[in-house]
Amino acid sequence: MTQKESDYKNILMSFPFCQPDYLLAPHTYYKIGGPADFALIPKNELELEQSYHILQRLPLPYFILGGGTNVLISDKGFRGVVLITSHFKEFRTLGNNRYFVGGGIELDGLVKEVLLKNNYEGVSALTGIPGTVGGALFMNAGTINGCICEWTEKVFLLTSDGKKEIEIKPELYSYRSQKFCSINELISSAIFHFKKSNTEQKTIYEHYIKRRKEKQPQGYCCGSVFKNPPGHHAGKLIEKCGLKGTRKGGAIISPIHANFIMNDNNATFDDVLFLIRLVQEKVYNKFGITLEEEVRIIFEDGCFQSCQHYNNREG
Ligand SMILES: Cc1cc2nc3c(=O)[nH]c(=O)nc-3n(C[C@H](O)[C@H](O)[C@H](O)COP(=O)(O)OP(=O)(O)OC[C@H]3O[C@@H](n4cnc5c(N)ncnc54)[C@H](O)[C@@H]3O)c2cc1C
Repeated sequence: MTQKESDYKNILMSFPFCQPDYLLAPHTYYKIGGPADFALIPKNELELEQSYHILQRLPLPYFILGGGTNVLISDKGFRGVVLITSHFKEFRTLGNNRYFVGGGIELDGLVKEVLLKNNYEGVSALTGIPGTVGGALFMNAGTINGCICEWTEKVFLLTSDGKKEIEIKPELYSYRSQKFCSINELISSAIFHFKKSNTEQKTIYEHYIKRRKEKQPQGYCCGSVFKNPPGHHAGKLIEKCGLKGTRKGGAIISPIHANFIMNDNNATFDDVLFLIRLVQEKVYNKFGITLEEEVRIIFEDGCFQSCQHYNNREG
């Protein structure tokens, strides 16, 4: 270890919420991923801000991890720092159907504890999506029935220029994409403004939970691996290439839903990545369509980003 590396280690380890050699696989829905050199796991707003601040001061690669439901991380781990937000769970009721929600709160908890209990709209769009509110906002998670940004009034960001508040307008988000938070920034919390619904939302919730159990494979995965290209359904394109059930090592393209690549039996990062690239190649050769990954792929030395996701605010 060089003197500089030793200095960085001492600075990071001076925070009680820092852990060295932090194994990432247990923190992901794929159950794949080696150790990060360091993990910062803040439990309150002050620790979250301290964590983000120190990452701006140290010349080390870093990435933000929420619930780990949409990431594929290298078996070699990550040579840098992972800031894990899922313990930051601040929550306040603001009145008039508005709520302040910490980025680490589980989306499923928000649906059950806030939307269902108050019979708010949005249940059909957000039911059954695992992960944190911060991750959901970053990905603009949702379904055919809507996306999380539709009910978001404001997001609070930590950026290299300090704290920012962004009012969410429709031009700032689109299908599984947003323009308000770039890759190095952190969504610390948000204000949601929900609307009461005239339809009973509990029935809708139960319908979508049942539907997911019937239509989606159960097991270690990231949900849909690819975004739907405009006018197409990624799963159908993959199915038409005859790829359902294709295996590589411990990974398999689900025979139930072709857009799901499962860690079926101790799959490695390379197994899943092989199938991702195979799907992209076959779909491109047959239809001339490039499938863009929805899953975030994180290599040992940094993040691989698919082309259109991380726009800057000016863009
Ligand atoms: C079984 C299953 C079903 C799914 N179904 C759906 C679905 O129907 N619709 C859908 O949209 N998605 C779905 N997903 C994908 C996933 O659940 C969502 O994308 C989810 O919102 C990601 O949240 P997360 O906290 O797990 O993010 P992570 O997986 O931890 O991170 C995803 C990305 O968000 C970034 N990020 C996370 N938190 C923050 C933050 N606070 N600030 C800034 N960046 C952050 C990370 O750096 C990473 O690039 C599914 C996944 C699974 C496993």
